[in-house]
Amino acid sequence: MFINCSDRELFILKKIANAAKDLQMPAYLIGGFVRDKIIGRKTKDADIVCLGDGIQLADKVAERFSPKPHVSFFKNFGTAQIKLSDLEIEFVGARKESYRSDSRKPAVEPGTIEDDQNRRDFTINALAISLNDADYGQLLDPFNGMEDLENKILRTPLEPAQTFSDDPLRMMRAIRFAAQLNFTIHPETFAAIGEMKDRIRIVSQERITDEFNKIMLTDKPSVGLDLLYKSGLLQLIFPEMVELAGAEYIDGKGHKDNFYHTLQVIDNICINTKDLWLRWAALLHDIGKPATKRFEEGHGWTFHGHEVVGARMVPKIFAKLKLPLSEKMKFVQKLVELHLRPISLTKENITDSAVRRLLFDAGEDIDALMLLCSADITSKNKYKVKRYQQNFQLVKERMQAVEESDRIRNWQPPITGEMIMQIFGLKPGRNVGIIKDAIREAILDGEISNNYDAAYQFMLRKAEELQLQPVG
Ligand code: ATP
Repeated sequence: MFINCSDRELFILKKIANAAKDLQMPAYLIGGFVRDKIIGRKTKDADIVCLGDGIQLADKVAERFSPKPHVSFFKNFGTAQIKLSDLEIEFVGARKESYRSDSRKPAVEPGTIEDDQNRRDFTINALAISLNDADYGQLLDPFNGMEDLENKILRTPLEPAQTFSDDPLRMMRAIRFAAQLNFTIHPETFAAIGEMKDRIRIVSQERITDEFNKIMLTDKPSVGLDLLYKSGLLQLIFPEMVELAGAEYIDGKGHKDNFYHTLQVIDNICINTKDLWLRWAALLHDIGKPATKRFEEGHGWTFHGHEVVGARMVPKIFAKLKLPLSEKMKFVQKLVELHLRPISLTKENITDSAVRRLLFDAGEDIDALMLLCSADITSKNKYKVKRYQQNFQLVKERMQAVEESDRIRNWQPPITGEMIMQIFGLKPGRNVGIIKDAIREAILDGEISNNYDAAYQFMLRKAEELQLQPVG
């Protein structure tokens, strides 16, 4: 039953089997590795469960390799790890678990292989393969996990509500696996998520966010995000996103459902990027819409300033979700704030100065911004989408032309604050800022050329207005 294992993996498994035999300690390959091999998915983590001390088995296995690999172990958990080639192998003794209602961390006692399979979250994750002489290579599948693998079904081995109540992280895992593997969650299992959703409150934010990010990194995150929404979990873990859902109508005029629009924008951007933070920018690009929604008589629905309000929401959302409050957050915030700018350039006669200004404001993130903006073009009307994309292409070409002649991207004005202070004998202060900003604006507006001499002459005129004279 060692489907899709490489020769090297088979060699390693045989060595583990021999070490276990020496210790007279039955051992099994179990969980994600077995599942992934059967469906032909890449995997680098293998879990070994043994009826005894996992650390002792890991030591015995390590001795059989030369050079001897390092064994890292956690005495408290009775687990040990070895890295062989690029395979991370974890060893642990089979266990039986019992849960209390206020924690997802169970009381643990040694158990049989069946006990260990019973504590697994899904039938497809409970598959085990024997590494023992009597039945080497035999699949142990007490819950028909193979059938669920074939039918692409996620289902809990035991009663689903109890399984989710015991460890509510499993609800996030169900949705994450459905999204990653393109599987369907069995109706009873899915209904139990709805019933038990409030139990998610006992799970740490870090764990929830880790699963959420795994969903964000799938090929089509809309699948997982929609399941989170339909199960009611999203309302609990990310209510700001649920606020986007629904379309309101007044006088027969409606607006698009911004939740499903957002999901489509994420899927669109995922075709072109694997970057988690650019995906997050897509997720949050319209997050300011609910707060800015207005109905204007004779005009319809508006969301004026949603990009500014949205950008202001980003740090709060990142803090709440325990996402990094680093330059990643700043990047997302910047993209949310600028996301309308490239598209707005398609609506007017594009002036060079508008293009320059966008290039300057976006700086090194201009390519990411253009990807977001292109992904944001969604409509049921495919002719409209085509027209918008064509206009958008024109903006791109125009930007390229301006960038080639002016080199605005990563540009700094030819006269710095330091230079202004020296020339006029100033200390850091308001006047330095006024002159510096005026030079930058004049260049971006095309009022003066982008070179030192033009900037110097302009600076002298500006300084005169402020009654400043060069020193020396
Ligand atoms: P991935 O590596 O993509 O996360 P995986 O299935 O290998 O997938 P792990 O988190 O590495 O996931 O867990 C290994 C195995 O441990 C799982 O296949 C499953 O059998 C079991 N497991 C992990 N987390 C839980 C849980 N919360 N409840 C029950 N069983 C779990």
